[in-house]
Amino acid sequence: MKDFALHDAPVLDELRALAAERILILDGAMGTMIQTLGLSEEDYSANGHIHGPGCRHHTDHPQKGNNDLLVLTKPDAIEEIHYQFAMAGADILETNTFSGTTIAQADYGLEGAIHYLSVAGAQVARRAADRAQATDGKRRFVAGAVGPTNRTASISPDVNDPGFRAVSFDELRRAYGQQMEGLIEGGADIILIETIFDTLNAKAAIFAAFEVFQKIGQRLPLMISGTITDASGRTLSGQTPTAFWHSVSHARPFTVGLNCALGADLMRPHLAELAGVADTLICAYPNAGLPNAFGGYDEAPEQTAAFVGGFACDGLVNVVGGCCGTTPDHIRAIADAVAPYAPRKVPA
Ligand SMILES: [Zn+2]
Repeated sequence: MKDFALHDAPVLDELRALAAERILILDGAMGTMIQTLGLSEEDYSANGHIHGPGCRHHTDHPQKGNNDLLVLTKPDAIEEIHYQFAMAGADILETNTFSGTTIAQADYGLEGAIHYLSVAGAQVARRAADRAQATDGKRRFVAGAVGPTNRTASISPDVNDPGFRAVSFDELRRAYGQQMEGLIEGGADIILIETIFDTLNAKAAIFAAFEVFQKIGQRLPLMISGTITDASGRTLSGQTPTAFWHSVSHARPFTVGLNCALGADLMRPHLAELAGVADTLICAYPNAGLPNAFGGYDEAPEQTAAFVGGFACDGLVNVVGGCCGTTPDHIRAIADAVAPYAPRKVPA
């Protein structure tokens, strides 16, 4: 990885300058907003005729629940959600591409449409970002969201065969690379590697990002976000926040942070640990509390905002937003709650 030969993309300076002035706002949960639309199988799959910019793809697989596909089959609805988050105060919009790799889309038989999903996912967010900027004059950024996939590279899914792996580093690297190329082609400013439960998956994504940066001749800002999956404060692959940071710090990310999982209240000590060790900007976007018995989220915007405002008051964060269950109202409340506070100072 000869990243020393690469110069930083101009957008990195722009983001750093803004982040020096104030806490930046990331958007909320696309999935939560899509649920409120009550879409049918036909809405998702367009009767199996998946057409988009340059894309003519046919599928016989049921697609209901494949939210990533909506950037091709319901682009206006997705753009509107991005726009609502932008107007609620988000500086950074995450593309609707969390499961947009050949690995994660294999369940839906859409491996062949990955390029189009990635390009269209970024384009839809870009349109919303540019429209919001034209409305209020405030710069918006598009973060190409790269999820963990549904396989882990360092843990066996079979308790009777601990040496088995459902996916290899190279398979992940290739899949992530393909997705990232499409995201950048579609106009992403940032690559966001998020909801990391297995650090080896994230390392494959980082490797892929640098391969793509070599191809395009510049380094885009990287945001890296892990998820703490149990109360002992470890990722699924068993790392503490400190260990997680040491595993990804070589990528010199624009931000490192935590998202999803436990909600803001329970995330706090783990975030504080990460903020104590990482010599880069800290990003936190928790769920709206813990899921209820039906998998929904009950935490009101003011509650989530009070916790996240607490992070800001204590100087723990540089970028904040929301994960599962957070709506534009949550983002608006979070933006208001952190506005009085200065961004965290990066330790020298
Ligand atoms: Zn989440």
